[in-house]
Amino acid sequence: MSTIGPQSASTLAAKEHGTELRYEFFKVIQDYADRAARMIEVEPWVSTIMSQPKNELIVHFPVKMDDGTVRLFKGYRIQHSNILGPFKGGMRFHETVSLDDLKALAAMMTFKCALMRIPFGGSKGGIKFNPRSVSSTELQRITRRFTHALGGNIGPEYDIPAPDVGTNAKTMAWMMDTYMNMVGNVEKQSVKGVVTGKPVASGGTLGREKSTGQGIVHCLTEWAKDNAFQLEGSTYILQGFGNVGSNVAVLLARLGSSCVAVGDHTGYLANPEGFNAHKLQDYVHARGSLQGYPAGKVITREEFFATRADIFLPCALENQVGEAEARTLDVKIVVEGANGPLNPEGERVLLEDRIAIIPDILANSGGVTVSYYEWIQNKRSESWSLEEVDDKLERAMKRAYRDVVTFSREHACDLRVAAYALALQRIESVYREREIFP
Ligand code: NAD
Repeated sequence: MSTIGPQSASTLAAKEHGTELRYEFFKVIQDYADRAARMIEVEPWVSTIMSQPKNELIVHFPVKMDDGTVRLFKGYRIQHSNILGPFKGGMRFHETVSLDDLKALAAMMTFKCALMRIPFGGSKGGIKFNPRSVSSTELQRITRRFTHALGGNIGPEYDIPAPDVGTNAKTMAWMMDTYMNMVGNVEKQSVKGVVTGKPVASGGTLGREKSTGQGIVHCLTEWAKDNAFQLEGSTYILQGFGNVGSNVAVLLARLGSSCVAVGDHTGYLANPEGFNAHKLQDYVHARGSLQGYPAGKVITREEFFATRADIFLPCALENQVGEAEARTLDVKIVVEGANGPLNPEGERVLLEDRIAIIPDILANSGGVTVSYYEWIQNKRSESWSLEEVDDKLERAMKRAYRDVVTFSREHACDLRVAAYALALQRIESVYREREIFP
């Protein structure tokens, strides 16, 4: 399989020509928010506050590696806003992690929680390294030492991490356990909610693992109803087969939609007959990637984007679809499982071609929604049934989807601007009531 870099084809091309373009993800998110703010005439001072994160934390911490050497790691936690509730956002372990990306992702969390009417703010953090390049024991020490370095800058009522790219339920168990060991004995049990996305036995909730994928499927189902589109018998192409991508694939299989091309950081595969989502998931769980999966033809990244299908599900990283990729896409709808998968040029081409886009802050908000349910359960020492979690999530997703579609019709704007505008309206109304300290 061909090995690909983390950035879009256009960025790779720029690199080859020695003119590396720095993708300014945070500026892209600021532009979305500014466009929405202008449309609904948000108080300028509210936009000013939203234009930068409240806190930007950078920590350097040493970790003893298996071979006895000591390596210094750089960790970040960006806390964008806590006007609606505690800061909330994932922890990313990836070699491309940067301050700018995390500022963008933290701001998106603020807007996502506001859109979903969840009483949380927005944050994001992570460590710049490749978690696949270290052993499991090293990974545990890195995670624990990072949690320790963050210290009182996270907490169940202050800032609540969750899994993101390169982290999972196991990472959250290590973070929770480290944090519990940093507080006094009598407080230990009351701080379980310091992270969400934990394993169920360690205080996680049923339904969290698939929640982001489930939310995407609810959005897609609503869109299908509105557009007289049959999901049964439809086809899709899927980029990213981690937590989000693999769960979407398994859930879509139940609705009779089949995956005809799939890709991850190791390369891309096509199968016109449709992949078996469960077998793909088992394979990736066992091997860590799609590399070597037997039931598919190896294709290039360009061929992947040109594969005809009804739906495109980008579920990997930001900035994957630029103008070049968008021009070759041959689909009816793009549902953004990843945060920021389309860059502005890619989005412009898709909008011109009248391809529907369900924006990230709506499409992938099922994860933070069920994280909120986990946090409530931890606070109340409860454990809800899967049916209860699923029902609540379905209602929350459908309501948010309707809110966004209705707003976009009333204001003749696209769904992304509508989602940002709704979020900003809610944030602005709280600022109007509370005003600014002192
Ligand atoms: P993950 O680490 O579980 O999976 C990431 C997937 O992307 C893997 O299959 C990986 O191989 C693939 N990938 C990485 N680099 C790639 C590249 N250059 N080209 C193609 N594929 C590549 O991460 P995840 O939790 O599934 O997150 C995926 C996206 O969804 C991210 O944008 C994340 O911020 C967003 N998201 C995740 C959640 C969640 O609950 N996990 C919630 C909301 C949004």
